[in-house]
Amino acid sequence: MTPIIPRVGIGADVHPVAPGRPCWMLGLLFDGDGCEGHSDGDVAVHALCDALLSAGGLGDLGTVFGTGRPEVAGITGAQMLTEVRVLLSDNGFVIGNAAVQMIGNRPKVGPRRAEAEAVLAGLVGAPVSVSATTTDGLGLTGRGEGVAAIATAMVYPGHRGAPTPDDPAIVP
Ligand code: MG
Repeated sequence: MTPIIPRVGIGADVHPVAPGRPCWMLGLLFDGDGCEGHSDGDVAVHALCDALLSAGGLGDLGTVFGTGRPEVAGITGAQMLTEVRVLLSDNGFVIGNAAVQMIGNRPKVGPRRAEAEAVLAGLVGAPVSVSATTTDGLGLTGRGEGVAAIATAMVYPGHRGAPTPDDPAIVP
């Protein structure tokens, strides 16, 4: 039997903090200022989307949600993640898991980590690990000027149709 080889992907994003913007991060709405962006500015979800697209060899956010699609202006992170999940499925991939780390001073992720993991896992259809760190006062994230995020994802080339994560055909 031919082994099913999983594929990994990576994604990163940085946005400036914008006073007065709602603070969407990791699929949750936090108190305080959020990030600039023509979407909801959720850098963590953007990094996660890029990691998933990267794992599938399906380009990046610019490819999928670029300026050629003016109708996606203002799109939410949840909508983006849902569209990426469908795109992967349509291309025969099953998402194994993903991980995303927010880099910045705020919002404080720790108290809502489990909530974020549940929301993101629901959107992705696979486990999503959430973590956060700071840069100890260094750089744009340390000065609170922006927030960054980095993510990885693993997908399995499955089969066309509607594969599910517990499909025995994708067990490595
Ligand atoms: Mg972005």
